[in-house]
Amino acid sequence: MAQASGPLISLRGITRRYSAGDQVTTVLDAIDLDIFAGESVAIIGQSGSGKSTLMNIMGCLDTPSEGTYRFAGRDVAGMDENMKAALRRAHFGFIFQRYQLLADLDALSNVEMPAVYNGTPRGKRRKEAARILAQLGLADRSHHRPSELSGGQQQRVSVARALINGGEVIFADEPTGALDSKSGADLLALLDDLHARGHTIITVTHDPAIAARAQRVIEIKDGRIMSDTRKSPAPAAPRLDIPRAANGLGAAIGRLREAVTMAVRTMIAHKLRSFLTMLGIIIGIASVVSMVALGTGSRKRVLENIAQIGTSTIEIRKGTGFGDRRANAIMTLVPADAAALQQQPYAAFVSPEVTTTVPVTRRGTTSALQVRGVGGDYFTVGAFTLTAGNVFGPAALVRRDQVVVIDRNAAETFFADGSDPVGQTLLLDRVPMRVVGVVTPAGAGFGSQNPRVYVPYTTASTRLTGRTTLDSISVRVADSYDMLIAEQLITDLMLQRHGVQDFFLVNSDTIRDTITSTAATLSLLVAAIAVISLLVGGIGVMNIMLVSVTERTREIGVRIAVGARRSDIIAQFLIEAVLVCLIGGVLGVGLAMGAGYAVGQVTTMFTLEFSPAIAAAAFGASSAIGILFGYLPARSASRLDPVAALARD
Ligand code: ADP
Ligand code: MG
Repeated sequence: MAQASGPLISLRGITRRYSAGDQVTTVLDAIDLDIFAGESVAIIGQSGSGKSTLMNIMGCLDTPSEGTYRFAGRDVAGMDENMKAALRRAHFGFIFQRYQLLADLDALSNVEMPAVYNGTPRGKRRKEAARILAQLGLADRSHHRPSELSGGQQQRVSVARALINGGEVIFADEPTGALDSKSGADLLALLDDLHARGHTIITVTHDPAIAARAQRVIEIKDGRIMSDTRKSPAPAAPRLDIPRAANGLGAAIGRLREAVTMAVRTMIAHKLRSFLTMLGIIIGIASVVSMVALGTGSRKRVLENIAQIGTSTIEIRKGTGFGDRRANAIMTLVPADAAALQQQPYAAFVSPEVTTTVPVTRRGTTSALQVRGVGGDYFTVGAFTLTAGNVFGPAALVRRDQVVVIDRNAAETFFADGSDPVGQTLLLDRVPMRVVGVVTPAGAGFGSQNPRVYVPYTTASTRLTGRTTLDSISVRVADSYDMLIAEQLITDLMLQRHGVQDFFLVNSDTIRDTITSTAATLSLLVAAIAVISLLVGGIGVMNIMLVSVTERTREIGVRIAVGARRSDIIAQFLIEAVLVCLIGGVLGVGLAMGAGYAVGQVTTMFTLEFSPAIAAAAFGASSAIGILFGYLPARSASRLDPVAALARD
């Protein structure tokens, strides 16, 4: 490396002021100082004289209010934050009175941290960390946490950390202040040894005995240099060979991987806190995913049922559309309309329909049921499977026979004793009717699962409703006719017969449209709830992370001191936030699927339909929340002042 051609550290007129309100305190007052490579310097002075402040400025942890600081000839004022971070991690090593090791990491991981930020490959830096620890007599302590080490051992770990990237200049601020005299003496010997190996050592102390070990003693008082004495002339030492920092994509990926590891470690070390942070996300994602699954499942079920009904059936109903309240008052739909439709070439089958709800009784069992009065073709118009007996024919309609066809649900309700329903009698509104057949509607499951009973519409009119008007007419369109043409022809015929449009046509397409548009509205609602609940979850994450930044101020200070870039700190907190949210998302999806499975075991009323797309969307959304709500805490962490952060206990 280049021979030293001037001081390594050069301060001119360095002044540091603190202002609190109107009051301005000058802590350093126009300091001029040159320190050469390879020097061993002790800065001595009473407590409060400005020693630490001076050292923090030399270590680029603090910025002077005035004056010029040149490191190796370069003006530090012209460096941006990243360059100063690079200087700290590549050229400086800090030893603090209170060690400042990270409690969650073992000795080896503490030592390798500056190398992580320097982009040194993992294998290489761990080997180097182990080597230095062994050199300092800590080989068997490398996997101990700081809490499992003595003060002297912790301080040696922090020396190892200062050396990992080369440690050209070692700043030691009261390094023996917290140590017993034996450990203190050992540490001072270690620093002497490092000096002998070419490191520049700058020690801050209030103890004259410690200062006396150094080659050069600078005494400061009230922010001014009182004396500067050298025992030997400044050495013309060469600068230490500092390995170059690894840059580029590989190093960035390595740092990212390290940040993920770090985040996982933090989460494991604080399981309860991490879980509580996740809770909002878990609940939010779980509820949204299950709502979406429920919507998808119901819609799919309904559409399947519609598909079974068939597409060639058109129903003529009273009123202007679904939900028309005046429809009941319309008395114009009559059997003659059905008869007229029957004459049309496009009508393959026609079934007039009357619907009423009456009590249905057999023996002790009574149930208020919807009774459908239908034509003989009804069972042909809709797709029915005949399970037992027969359906009623045209003759029964003409005779107004008191016969009834029931569906399987009704058979199960009224013939729970297992007897054959066919030939037995049911009371419909106290009118006895003979069961002639049992059917299974193809659309079973569409709408309610209530039992259904069917009687001839003529019988329904005379015996049950007492009116001759119909509620609807179902038309099965002949195969040779186009549905749209048939619809037009039916509309024309009905308009001609009624004179006004007091009816509307329904086919499986219109039902599907209705359901699809309802589903769309529902989806919008679910989306709104999703956004709200995830926002609440995200705010929870942000809240706890902001608190955790405060709680981890010291950790952040240490990381910045050993050379983390602001972007490294941001990345670490963002990754933590994303990880928390992502794991919350996974647990949420799992919870929703578990709930879906449990519900499926208990009832068939709901169908929850999960898809990989829902899961992917959930993971995407939770990651986005992590980034969105982790950013503010991450930024506030990255903006911490390392000097203030390290001063915290
Ligand atoms: P030493 O290390 O010599 O004990 P310091 O450099 O830590 O002294 O502090 C020098 C003076 O600066 C002290 O009087 C201290 O109160 C003051 N000081 C240090 N940090 C701050 C700060 N952030 N705000 C205001 N005053 C400060
Ligand atoms: Mg101090």
